[in-house]
Amino acid sequence: MTIEHFFKNPFPHNKQSTKNVFKKKKFLMPTYRNLYIDGCCSDLTVTDDRVVSIEPADPTKEFDDSIDCNGSFWALPAMVNMHTHSAMTLFRSVGSGLPLQPWLHEVIFPREAQLTPDDVFMGVRQACDEMRASGTLALNDMYFHVDQAIHAVCQAHMEGNIALSVTDNDFNTEGEFRQLLSRFDSLQQQCGDDITLTIAPHSIYAVNAKHLQYLADFTHERSLPYHIHISETQAERENCIRQNGVPPVVWLDRLGILDKTKSFFIGAHALWLDDTEIALLGERHCNVVHCPNSNLKLGSGCRFRYVELRDAGVNVTLGTDGCASSDNLDLLEAMKVMSLLQKGTRQDPSVLPSHEVFQVATANGWHALHRPHRGLKPGDKARFFLVDINRNIFSGVTDPQLSPSQRQTLFLDRLIYAAHSDAIHPIPQHHTS
Ligand SMILES: [Zn+2]
Repeated sequence: MTIEHFFKNPFPHNKQSTKNVFKKKKFLMPTYRNLYIDGCCSDLTVTDDRVVSIEPADPTKEFDDSIDCNGSFWALPAMVNMHTHSAMTLFRSVGSGLPLQPWLHEVIFPREAQLTPDDVFMGVRQACDEMRASGTLALNDMYFHVDQAIHAVCQAHMEGNIALSVTDNDFNTEGEFRQLLSRFDSLQQQCGDDITLTIAPHSIYAVNAKHLQYLADFTHERSLPYHIHISETQAERENCIRQNGVPPVVWLDRLGILDKTKSFFIGAHALWLDDTEIALLGERHCNVVHCPNSNLKLGSGCRFRYVELRDAGVNVTLGTDGCASSDNLDLLEAMKVMSLLQKGTRQDPSVLPSHEVFQVATANGWHALHRPHRGLKPGDKARFFLVDINRNIFSGVTDPQLSPSQRQTLFLDRLIYAAHSDAIHPIPQHHTS
């Protein structure tokens, strides 16, 4: 089979075809011949959703089912969008020019109040198509009508966390909280292995201390992610100091939340942090998500302290945020912006080279999801995408005079700083059920 023919195979797209998405699927994938991996032209064999072998390309070898990539494609492990509100594709670019709080209260919340479950399904489905098309196969989502989000994500053959986002408007009494938990249990039964369902407190300004602790107890007991917006703006930080005497991360720690949640803590944004907060996040093995495009668009700032967080032992990951503030879900673009911001703000071009920012967008994300062994190594669940290297911007990346690691470095530089995601080809998933 040619690679062009393979790309034309569609996967199910309409809501009627969701009937069987929760059943266990058996994936059939072939051998990809003459495909560049880690700077070497290789034959990659995938069986039943697992990478079986990666060997130097051998034209004399026979395979039962193969796709010839003609040395025109480079394979990379799939990326993970670690903070998004997928259904917000429906609100793309609304409220441009407003800062976070007026943007939320005047533009976003009134629109969200009108959303139907069907709207959310269509918004998430559109988001999944957009993520897959740009090399992202996993997500860490936070929204509502999560039953619809589960359907849409499963239908797109993606995986990750889906969180029911809550604020103090959603539950105020013990009874309401118990109702929320029983609703959670029935929703969880809809999820297969690909989805981890959780309940996420929106932020420290939308959820009070008692409820933040309730949810920490709840997620801790079940080993679920604790996904929360934290320290997104200077105003959030200053308000927290005014009300509680300490900045947001120290306050969460004093409430016992970081200690309880540890590696399950996923702090979105984490933009306005001091040294003490960074040390605490490191000591507790927490994850944070940098969303550079959203932070810039909302004017929240460009002071993400990547180097200090990394050196403190924090697992730094990458996200886009929802399309209302980041306008797209393209992690290739987010990698470029993140890397350039670090180089520029630190006045150091050696910071965050392409291989490292790619690790932030891939392995660090899978680690935060507690879903390791996804990617492109033998034994991994096969989660990868292809890049068309026939384009002019990739000329020279397969130069035989370069070593494999030099070719890989040149390729990643071209991909992250020169290419756009239209060079990316997602792998269609073939399943038998
Ligand atoms: Zn967000």
